[in-house]
Amino acid sequence: MTPDAPTFPPSLSVTEHLDRILGSVTRLPAVTIPIAQALTLTLAEDVHAAVTVPSFDNSAMDGYALRKVDAASATAETPVMFRVVADLPAGSAENPRLGAGETARIMTGAAVPDDADCIVPIEETDQGTQIVLVSRAPQAAAHIRREGADVRTGDTVLTAGRVLGPRDLAAAAAVGVSHLSVYPAPRVGVLSTGSELREPGAPLERGQIHDSNSLLLAAMIAEGGGIPIQLGSVPDDDDAFEEILRTHADQVDAFVTSGGVSVGAYDIVKAVLAPLGVWFGPVRMQPGKPQGFGRFPVAGEPTTGATGPAIFALPGNPVSVFVSFEAFVRPALLTMAGRSQIFRATQRVTTSVGWRSPRGRAQYMPAIVAWDDAGTASVRPATAGGSGSYLVASLAKANALALVPEDVTEVFAGDVLTVTLVS
Ligand code: AMP
Ligand code: MG
Repeated sequence: MTPDAPTFPPSLSVTEHLDRILGSVTRLPAVTIPIAQALTLTLAEDVHAAVTVPSFDNSAMDGYALRKVDAASATAETPVMFRVVADLPAGSAENPRLGAGETARIMTGAAVPDDADCIVPIEETDQGTQIVLVSRAPQAAAHIRREGADVRTGDTVLTAGRVLGPRDLAAAAAVGVSHLSVYPAPRVGVLSTGSELREPGAPLERGQIHDSNSLLLAAMIAEGGGIPIQLGSVPDDDDAFEEILRTHADQVDAFVTSGGVSVGAYDIVKAVLAPLGVWFGPVRMQPGKPQGFGRFPVAGEPTTGATGPAIFALPGNPVSVFVSFEAFVRPALLTMAGRSQIFRATQRVTTSVGWRSPRGRAQYMPAIVAWDDAGTASVRPATAGGSGSYLVASLAKANALALVPEDVTEVFAGDVLTVTLVS
């Protein structure tokens, strides 16, 4: 008699798992916030100019505002003399009348008097303050920045979907806008699990390790446009784990946990979350095979809780955390943040060495891409141990992930792989 075959949850490919995640998360509702808080966020609505820019004709030079016709005969040998009747620094509201042979000294950015039709730069005068000699005939409209030369009231200055950078914020400010409608950065609770975990720097007893995943995840969340909320680490205790999630569920848009998702006796994350409807199962990748994803029900909701924060339950090994974040969490957070481009650019790069890859699993090899003097890239594993998922100190050397497809069991030097450069 043969014993019953053990039952395994069906495995998903990386693409299937990602598709489920992206099918579940949506961008957060837009909010209106001061421009100064909008850097890196995605614009939800077009920005129109509230004022015309420039809003008045103004001087492009430090010099003298006058009528071109009055200085038409000026040369270095036969300068023309003007009486200086006003002094106009930037910000001056004055609009002095200018009669024949009269001028106003004017600074860059100051409003050009209505009676003037050109600016003579200071370099083409003797710089007098009462009487000034102009030594060159001006061009028509010389050195005047015209009202509306940049934009006019109502013009579209920034279009929805833009990821706001420094110049976008400046453009909004310049056209008289003080607030922007944006998709907010998702707030993401980070929780490490494991009774072996200690704070960075704490002395270690036998069996203990430093919690590096909390920092890794918080930093990747921040880099990926989210707001990390560090929830620390909990020992492998069901109640402690569930309690901390419950406490923070209404303050976050997503949770990312690490550890406790595989089939070990103390894998509390799965033990607590699977009964709440969170999916757990193997994903055909290496590292990162055990994954969990779903929604954490907020208090008072039925346990199917489709509206609670998304929860990404990642495996505990730091390299698995890194790879899982890149493959699943980052695109989901960027979606929540309203980005349309949620994937990093990839490139095809030739390998300089060979290595093995497990059958039936897509391998994400932490790798080093290097460029030779001719600018040609090559890629090799970042560590001697390959994708060994515990090699956290060596992981820092990687600048890329090299993707080996599911059906490939051996990579040979000279093969061309799809590579993602990571920061
Ligand atoms: P687990 O998935 O909980 O079985 O953890 C897998 C491996 O990752 C174990 O060797 C853990 O000690 C290690 N690990 C789990 N959590 C962390 C963490 N926060 N920082 C560093 N290593 C961890
Ligand atoms: Mg653990």
